[in-house]
Formats: sequence, C-alpha cells, structure tokens
Amino acid sequence: MSSKSTWNDTKLKKLEDLWKQGHPISKIGEMLGVSRNSVAGKAHRMGLPKRTSPISSAKKENLSVEKNNETSNIDLPLKIKLRSVQWSRTKCCWPEGDPKQNNFKFCGQDIFPGRPYCDKHSLLAYTNARENS
Ligand SMILES: [Zn+2]
Repeated sequence: MSSKSTWNDTKLKKLEDLWKQGHPISKIGEMLGVSRNSVAGKAHRMGLPKRTSPISSAKKENLSVEKNNETSNIDLPLKIKLRSVQWSRTKCCWPEGDPKQNNFKFCGQDIFPGRPYCDKHSLLAYTNARENS
C-alpha cells in the first residue's frame, strides 16, 4: 500500500510551512509532488487557515503603473524659427543653413509679391521646381 503521492510526516510538515508562508496551493503541490486537490484536502483536514488570494493585493499595485506617454516635444530650431516668422507673411521664409545647426535661419527679405519668398529665392524655388520635373 504505497503510492507516490503518499503523505508522510516530512511532507505534512512542509505543507504546513509552505502554507503558512503563503505559497499558492498549486505551487505547494508542485513542490511536494502531489496534486493541488491533494494539498487543499490535506490542508483542510489539518485545519490550516483558509487561503485568501495572495494575488489580489499585488494586482492593485500594478494599476498605478506610470504612463510614460511624454511626447517628444523637442523644440527644433526650425519649429522655433517658423513660429517667429508667422507673424509676418511679408518676409521671405526661405530656410538658410542646416536646421540642425544654430546658424539656421530664414532669409527674412521682403517677399516678391504673390510669392512666399523674396525675388531671389522665389526665382531659385521656381528654377528648382522646373528642373526637377
Ligand atoms: Zn529670400
């Protein structure tokens, strides 16, 4: 009359220890090599205190997970410059220099009537557009 899942004093002691440490029933069964039902039944017969779910409290903590939704709001030089020239539609906004560099700026000359750029740059834009087509 011997089976693999026989309870002996060592196992019972361990069950009691693990139970009191708050391990999940399934985990205790795993560690003792018995089924979850066997652990639960044994614990019940041993009069061990009923288990409250150890997970519920841990889950609540995770609800306050920080949301790192910060939009990359890097003010690029180009953006700043664009903003500053928007007050006037009469200035040439032809970009000069590298937008990533500090020396970047807009032309700022008076525009050629009907064009967004000064005469020099509207000519340049016009020429480029024609050559690229
Ligand atoms: Zn210009």
